[in-house]
Amino acid sequence: MVQVVCASCKRLFTVRPQSPAQAYCSELECQRRRRQAWNKHKLATDSDYRANQLAAERAWHARNPDYWHFYRLRRKNPDAVSPSVPPRATSDASFCGADVSADLCWIEIQTPGATGRPQTWRVELTLKPHLARATSDACK
Ligand SMILES: [Zn+2]
Repeated sequence: MVQVVCASCKRLFTVRPQSPAQAYCSELECQRRRRQAWNKHKLATDSDYRANQLAAERAWHARNPDYWHFYRLRRKNPDAVSPSVPPRATSDASFCGADVSADLCWIEIQTPGATGRPQTWRVELTLKPHLARATSDACK
């Protein structure tokens, strides 16, 4: 078992036999720093990677034109839960929200429209009233 000093936290760790050139330990923070270093190196040295990243960022922004607007609003009022609060992002392409007083929640998904402008699809869910549980004799 070979032990080396982690390039991030400077602690000794055992190198996995499957990756003898391993320079970072398995701690989450060290792995995060390893990925950051890889990404920074790749952006600096690989023009194709840089172009692909830029294209992916632009495509994401075209699909989510209001993301940063809602992000800033959420930062101003993170604890509010009311219909006036803008939807929260749940993934790259969807938002959700809830109006508890109306027993309503929703999911919105943004897609590119036929004209190139983004369009929003909204699915609304209403709370099902609690039904009285049938007794075991009800089916007999
Ligand atoms: Zn480490």
